[in-house]
Amino acid sequence: MEKFDIAIIGGGASGLAAAALVSKSGKRVLVAERGARAGQKLLMTGNGRCNLSHSPLELGAYHGDAELARAVLAKWEGAERFFASLGLVCVTDGDGRVYPHSNAAASVLDALRLAAFPNAAFMPGTTCSDITPIDGGFLINGGIFAKKLIWAAGGGETSNFGPLGKIGHTIITPFPSLCPIITDKALTRPLKGLRVRAVCRAEAGGKTLKSERGEVQFNDGSLSGICVMNLSRLVRDYGNRLTVSLDIAPDFTPGELREIINKRAGCAPEDRFTGLFRKRIGAALAQRRGDAVGLIKDWRFPVTGTAPLGKAQVTAGGVPAAELNGDLSSKLHPNLFIIGEAVNVDGDCGGYNLAWAWASAAEAARAATRRQDLP
Ligand SMILES: Cc1cc2nc3c(=O)[nH]c(=O)nc-3n(C[C@H](O)[C@H](O)[C@H](O)COP(=O)(O)OP(=O)(O)OC[C@H]3O[C@@H](n4cnc5c(N)ncnc54)[C@H](O)[C@@H]3O)c2cc1C
Repeated sequence: MEKFDIAIIGGGASGLAAAALVSKSGKRVLVAERGARAGQKLLMTGNGRCNLSHSPLELGAYHGDAELARAVLAKWEGAERFFASLGLVCVTDGDGRVYPHSNAAASVLDALRLAAFPNAAFMPGTTCSDITPIDGGFLINGGIFAKKLIWAAGGGETSNFGPLGKIGHTIITPFPSLCPIITDKALTRPLKGLRVRAVCRAEAGGKTLKSERGEVQFNDGSLSGICVMNLSRLVRDYGNRLTVSLDIAPDFTPGELREIINKRAGCAPEDRFTGLFRKRIGAALAQRRGDAVGLIKDWRFPVTGTAPLGKAQVTAGGVPAAELNGDLSSKLHPNLFIIGEAVNVDGDCGGYNLAWAWASAAEAARAATRRQDLP
């Protein structure tokens, strides 16, 4: 039987960060990854540029068990220092988004791999389907023993958490966060492919729940774009009571808009918005009854759902903070640590989710290598 001091399940963002840190300790470390290669999702992040953190980290951008996230992040050295220790230079753009200097997600993956794999063993194509607590440690898939286990297998369907469920952990049913919002096809189809700068507001029962400014994209039956995605986790709680309202001319007052539009009062309806909006937007506005300015400032889209889990950038839900200690060790099995998206923590767009992946990995790595009370 193969034996390790620390086994990490999942070679994604948090698993690789944990591996980079714990493998420095001289312990025998294994990374078991179900895919053929480590960190493949990282390559897709930030449109291939990897928005690896946010500066400053607004702690209000975390949801789920946000208190746990805030406590762990407050102790963390920060992405710039963490990656500097791996030899990766980071830059922050004007919106506070932190990227690798190379502007390529591959550099982040390479820096993590180079730090992790001189010392840690990598076992690709290995899906952890069973964990058995034994002798204070864990038997993985019946054939690998590890004194400590770091679960870094990400989010996804409840079935992805199977081994944790079997050893007594509760899984808060995962649901999509950071994904397109589904709405009336008849409203969005004519606008398919268009993008507008807007203030995007989620409203239920006449109350604004959250409001974001950014670019909205119209799709065939859905709205997307960062600001829409940041509203999407509300759909689970409010369902079809939710309405997305767009102000597609947020820099103009109603009076200013009226003045602009009135200059074309004599034009055909679809031409009245020329100079302000793209033609198809103007045509859509012209088809609607009522006050055009009211529509421009409060264009309402009824919400019918979200894109499925598989299309979400992040899944909310996972292992609740109530079952974890502050160092992310399990209250049920002290030598088990649970990190990254597997924990019931999710963040807004802008680098918050990867920041949580790194910070939670650092916290667990520190605890897993420091604690002497273990076999
Ligand atoms: C398209 C896209 C773009 C994104 N862009 C950004 C961004 O720019 N900034 C940002 O902050 N966040 C972004 N995110 C979110 C971010 O990628 C995740 O929050 C982050 O990867 C979570 O890290 P993790 O280690 O918890 O999980 P993951 O990175 O998902 O890693 C989990 C790993 O575990 C493996 N695994 C799963 N189950 C098992 C098992 N049973 N046994 C063995 N291995 C297993 C998986 O194959 C995977 O490699 C993006 C997500 C997507 C999908």
